[in-house]
Amino acid sequence: MSGADGVVVVGGSVAGIRTARALREQGYDGPVRVVEAEAEVPYDKPPLSKGSVDADACVPLITLEEAEALGIELVLRRRAVALDADRRRLTLDDGNVLSFDHLVVATGLTPRRAPYDVEGVLVLRTLADSRALREAIARSQQVLVIGAGFIGAEVASLARRHGVGVTLVDPEPVPMGRVVGTELGGRFAALHRRHGVDTRFGSTVTSLVRVGDGYRVLLSDGDVVAADAVVVGIGSEVNVGWLAGSGLLVDDGVVCDERGAALRAPGIHAVGDAARWAGVRVEHWTSAVDQAVCVARSIAHPDEPAAPAPPAYVWSDQYDWKIQLVGDRDVARLPEVVEEAEPFRLAATWHDAEGRITGGVTVNWPRESVRMRAALARGGAA
Ligand SMILES: Cc1cc2nc3c(=O)[nH]c(=O)nc-3n(C[C@H](O)[C@H](O)[C@H](O)COP(=O)(O)OP(=O)(O)OC[C@H]3O[C@@H](n4cnc5c(N)ncnc54)[C@H](O)[C@@H]3O)c2cc1C
Repeated sequence: MSGADGVVVVGGSVAGIRTARALREQGYDGPVRVVEAEAEVPYDKPPLSKGSVDADACVPLITLEEAEALGIELVLRRRAVALDADRRRLTLDDGNVLSFDHLVVATGLTPRRAPYDVEGVLVLRTLADSRALREAIARSQQVLVIGAGFIGAEVASLARRHGVGVTLVDPEPVPMGRVVGTELGGRFAALHRRHGVDTRFGSTVTSLVRVGDGYRVLLSDGDVVAADAVVVGIGSEVNVGWLAGSGLLVDDGVVCDERGAALRAPGIHAVGDAARWAGVRVEHWTSAVDQAVCVARSIAHPDEPAAPAPPAYVWSDQYDWKIQLVGDRDVARLPEVVEEAEPFRLAATWHDAEGRITGGVTVNWPRESVRMRAALARGGAA
């Protein structure tokens, strides 16, 4: 069932830790080591942009005691710097070389800063980022958020809940338009405005300079905005630079088959945000967990392949809205929308030409989201 060198997982966030746990749950009895660049005991990311500014957002993915009990060796504060896929050797930043029978790449993403890489400008990906953001919101009167995707929208919501003024800038006409379409995106724009956000959709930041303890920001609509803190949420880059020269096929993530096996690299898998399975790379928590379970099964029971991954699912908490997205949403087309006023809830569904559901969005309607996921798992039949 296992070789002497066991499994090395690179990246100790949700995809990596869930892989290590799932290996044990599925009876893998060889060595399991998780190499993680950060010093923190592994923690989860979704809480970093949610909750209250006054509360720390650390939710552990595993404790040191659990890791020890499960026989999972956490190699913290160590960065993988090179991989030799043919010889199955991984080099760490302290010069140590680890041999492995199986390697799982789970190195995730790094937020993009350019072209707003000005001193003190904040991004949000790590626990340290979250602590810096919460401190900044707590001492600010006005925050400027660049980018109204999931991260920017949740940061705006976090700051408003703390009573801080927010300007939210995005070149798109509505927030999250790329994932929910213009019609629903318009409702999200209205949500931000209802909560007092100064929304500047369809605008960009043309200059950002530090002035004293704050910032002076020129927008493309000609307005000048002053802010005590600036947060950038404009997307991320995949952490695959360390794989240069490894022999792995890398193209917007580690290129894998439909079960996470790296192409042309026996013994190597990739999971989570850094993995591109069957041509698709997903940046969502639930996919990372589903992929971890699937890959652990392939390693622990190579003769019993895992079931195909369930349809993509993502949630976001903004103000008093719980937003849930499932499947593929053809956002160029209008969805079918059902909504109720008191208390407010909404379900939007996209169908294919045969009337099968392909994807959907719900607001404050978890049961409907579960129903959509079940229909998608059945192939889209209602
Ligand atoms: C603030 C925030 C809120 C989110 N909210 C939601 C949400 O509400 N719903 C949802 O579905 N998704 C959400 N997500 C997305 C979700 O958290 C990610 O999809 C998930 O974290 C991906 O996990 P991962 O393990 O693949 O990558 P990551 O979480 O990025 O972890 C990668 C790990 O690898 C480590 N690493 C990188 N390079 C190396 C190296 N060379 N050597 C060793 N270690 C390395 C990093 O330090 C990191 O710990 C959110 C993300 C963020 C940042």
